[in-house]
Amino acid sequence: MQEQRNHAQAKTAEAEEARAEMQLYAEQLKVSSQYKSEFLANMSHELRTPLNSMLVFSQFLKENNNHTLTDDELLYAGYIQNSGNDLLSLINDILDLSKVESGKMEPNIDAINLSEMPQIMEQHFSELAARKGLEFAVILHPDTPNLMFTDEQRLQQILKNLISNAIKFTTIGKVEITIRKAVLSAEHLEMQIDNSNEVISFAVRDTGLGIPKDKYELIFESFQQADGTIERNYGGTGLGLSISNQLTTLLGGSLLLESELGVGSIFTLYLPSLSSDFEPFEAAPTVEILSSP
Ligand code: ADP
Repeated sequence: MQEQRNHAQAKTAEAEEARAEMQLYAEQLKVSSQYKSEFLANMSHELRTPLNSMLVFSQFLKENNNHTLTDDELLYAGYIQNSGNDLLSLINDILDLSKVESGKMEPNIDAINLSEMPQIMEQHFSELAARKGLEFAVILHPDTPNLMFTDEQRLQQILKNLISNAIKFTTIGKVEITIRKAVLSAEHLEMQIDNSNEVISFAVRDTGLGIPKDKYELIFESFQQADGTIERNYGGTGLGLSISNQLTTLLGGSLLLESELGVGSIFTLYLPSLSSDFEPFEAAPTVEILSSP
């Protein structure tokens, strides 16, 4: 009897020790992740300053050269400017990611007019799509309310990431965005909203490459692409979806992916209309994965 009790006590002590170790490990992980985010935020900030002056002066060279530069020199000034802009957007992405990961990004909730969204997206993307010979359409479903409350800048950032991917990975056909009042099935209602909140869906549908099922989770991780080989056909940093996913969580929403290889992909963003006293969620983002359409 005594032996059994000793055995049980030893087991409990072992379990306690394991739990304490796990807790210590989780705390260490949190601290190192915090250091990483702070390092990235500081580094990105320091890089932006010299880069901004490169951009300003290359612009100046292009615009105020009084015909003193040759055509080739003007072309090179353009290259400096384009590469500088690419680098700036990479730095901004890293900065955003580190801010949102370290919980330092506060959403700026305000009323936004959904009826203006199609025009904003069309202005931004129609030309790019047309240059690739793609149809581009933004459809505002008649049941969509005029206003919703969210962070407009972050909503646009998510949509721009999804739409530019849709255009990038599509060679024939069309890219279509549908905005509507969302009807969610029970399993997607884990989205942390209360019943009085309206949910709006933004579905970005393309007729492009499609994404293999075994890459669904990977592509939402930072710096990851479905085609990770050196010979890959498409450029990019692999940060866009990771940022979009984190921002979606910040705004209390869900991002769903449905795709079929060779047929196309649909990324659907569900966002609740928030109240201004909304507290951002700290939980790690979850990517919801649906089966093929
Ligand atoms: P990037 O576009 O810079 O590579 P993202 O994080 O935005 O980074 O996307 C990660 C990867 O997900 C892409 O490299 C691509 O492999 C895949 N992907 C994203 N959107 C699409 C899409 N609409 N169609 C096909 N593949 C996509």
